[in-house]
Amino acid sequence: MPELPEVQTIVNDLNKKVVGRRIVGVWFDWPKMLKDPLDQQKNKIAHKHVAIFEKVIKGKKILKVVRRAKNILIYLSGDFLLLIHLKMTGHLLIGKWKVVGKKTIPLEPKEVVEDPYNQYIHLIFYLDPVRSRSPQGGRSHSLKARAASNGVDDGAMLALSDLRKFAKALLGTKEQIENLPEIKNLGPEPLDPSFKFAEFVKLIKSERRKIKQVLMDPEVIAGIGNIYSDDILWAAKIHPFKPANKLGNQELGSLYKAIRKVLEKALKLRGTSYSDYRDTSGKEGGYADYRLVYQREDEPCRRCKTAIVRVKLGGRSAHFCPKCQKL
Ligand SMILES: [Zn+2]
Repeated sequence: MPELPEVQTIVNDLNKKVVGRRIVGVWFDWPKMLKDPLDQQKNKIAHKHVAIFEKVIKGKKILKVVRRAKNILIYLSGDFLLLIHLKMTGHLLIGKWKVVGKKTIPLEPKEVVEDPYNQYIHLIFYLDPVRSRSPQGGRSHSLKARAASNGVDDGAMLALSDLRKFAKALLGTKEQIENLPEIKNLGPEPLDPSFKFAEFVKLIKSERRKIKQVLMDPEVIAGIGNIYSDDILWAAKIHPFKPANKLGNQELGSLYKAIRKVLEKALKLRGTSYSDYRDTSGKEGGYADYRLVYQREDEPCRRCKTAIVRVKLGGRSAHFCPKCQKL
């Protein structure tokens, strides 16, 4: 599942490539994705809302894109807000597709066309061509040339590829979306400079659950999932099953530092493509090669060469070094 570094990479891409453009149309073949923000039932098609979604989104301009935990918040003109959660296997792509009957045929870019992970298109937003920002008056430049000079082609589209089809798109007013419990109840952002050590200690100390579960709870700290919680705990030399309130001051200090170090490294490498995740041009992230323990069962620990162990934790698994991370 895309976590903070993957979602932030997508959000950064969107801010560069689609801000200022208008959504001129929408295509989808899986209406269950278009949830009614005020009535998000699983496996339900909100027919009335789907009709409203199509009508309202048409003509809206993309003003800015923000990440909150693993949510992508696309602020639109008219005080509307589109929330996209990628869930297990979703990712957003910028490219061109041709829709023929019920099939989408990818046209560009290359990675979107060639990589099988990018072929599960279920939602497309058609964007208007770039008109402004002509270079030096641009008298001899065609519309297409100007668009290309901005790195965005005319007629580019924003699409959602999702193998397992759990991703969701919620459209509502800014107020409606920002006040949803799934947004309002989120914990602090770990890379936010205002998230200080004292606040972190208070949050962790008040939890009796296993530290791995606490790190993965978005209402405690936002955006950390299975991959990065494993790697963060290895970097901080803390056993994933250690009760959070039993961590000593030194461990808390190491953990606070490890969270930033691991997430910043992953962000710099544009995320982990261990399975489905791709960036908006359909390319893989580079973090998989640098994984510290996640999905490295039986491989040597990067510090002490002991074989990495995998254990079950709830419905998930935890990977750690039994020598470096003692309970
Ligand atoms: Zn070790």
